[in-house]
Amino acid sequence: MSAVLDAAYDAAAAALRAAPRVVVAAHENPDGDAIGSLIGAVRGLRAAGIDAAAVRDAAELPREYRWLDDGDTSTLAPAGEGWLLLAVDCGSAARIAAPAGVRERASLVVDLDHHHDNTRFGDINIVDDGAACSAMMVRELLRRLGVELTAAIATPLYVGLVSDTGRFQYSNTDPRAFTAAAELVRHGAQPQVVFHRVYESVQASKLRLLARALDRIELRLGGRLAVTWLTRADITETGADEAATDGVIDNLRAIEGVEVAAFIREATNGTRHKVSLRSANGIVDVSRIAHTGGGGGHTRAAGFSSDLDRPQLVDLIERETESQL
Ligand code: AMP
Ligand code: MN
Ligand code: MN
Repeated sequence: MSAVLDAAYDAAAAALRAAPRVVVAAHENPDGDAIGSLIGAVRGLRAAGIDAAAVRDAAELPREYRWLDDGDTSTLAPAGEGWLLLAVDCGSAARIAAPAGVRERASLVVDLDHHHDNTRFGDINIVDDGAACSAMMVRELLRRLGVELTAAIATPLYVGLVSDTGRFQYSNTDPRAFTAAAELVRHGAQPQVVFHRVYESVQASKLRLLARALDRIELRLGGRLAVTWLTRADITETGADEAATDGVIDNLRAIEGVEVAAFIREATNGTRHKVSLRSANGIVDVSRIAHTGGGGGHTRAAGFSSDLDRPQLVDLIERETESQL
């Protein structure tokens, strides 16, 4: 660990200890790492004797992660002001998903994240782009606060790790990730239970939605770019929900010869479309494509929201992919 990172962890731990109250938040459209880090952090901070609350902006968490939330998160801003806001897994301030007023009423912001394009929006920035997930970073922060892991803390953190490593298959699956997994399992995280709850509790409506997306796969650039899309109507007609689009893109990335996978869906957050991008082999840096579209992310997983129409988006993605091949 670099001296800068080490100092950032210590500074954050000291600030958390000194804060009258801590509010934890993660990013919009939260994934397993965002939710696992959020819930693991709030439970860990409470175990350290810190007055902490966790907030989210969505009415409901995605179905496969709801079981993790034992009343730990709320869509209401806590009373008062002058809190420390701990943002986990957020690459920029704009990504923080919190009820109105939370950011404005915080007096200190700690940014804990592993995105390489993190904008360092916090007063204290713990940014480690070498970490496989934010959940591992939460673990490190809790270690510095002297927190003993329990099953209730280890389980959400393990979900974050499993989720961001693609169940220990992606290129970020390094010895640190396995060491963290071993520690979390030793303290009560149950891999089979997590697998069953997160990956084997699928609704048939989600599979019907997936079928539509798979049916529309279009290959471009001689098979190196795979694109597909879903509309709001697809979601309502199949009886699925927005969160059911999660995972669609993994199927595109798995196609032989594909370097870039792109998934376009009609959004509900005010913009017209949400785009997810994946790089199959790391040859193309998809965060650069996402930046062109106004978003960001990691080299191999990125995204953006856009008001462009679908043909315009496909053109943009094709052009930006080609420029990197
Ligand atoms: P997703 O395709 O939604 O799973 O997003 C993949 C990754 O891209 C996320 O982990 C984020 O790091 C990043 N990302 C997605 N959407 C945005 C956005 N609108 N702005 C910045 N980063 C994004
Ligand atoms: Mn995330
Ligand atoms: Mn993450």
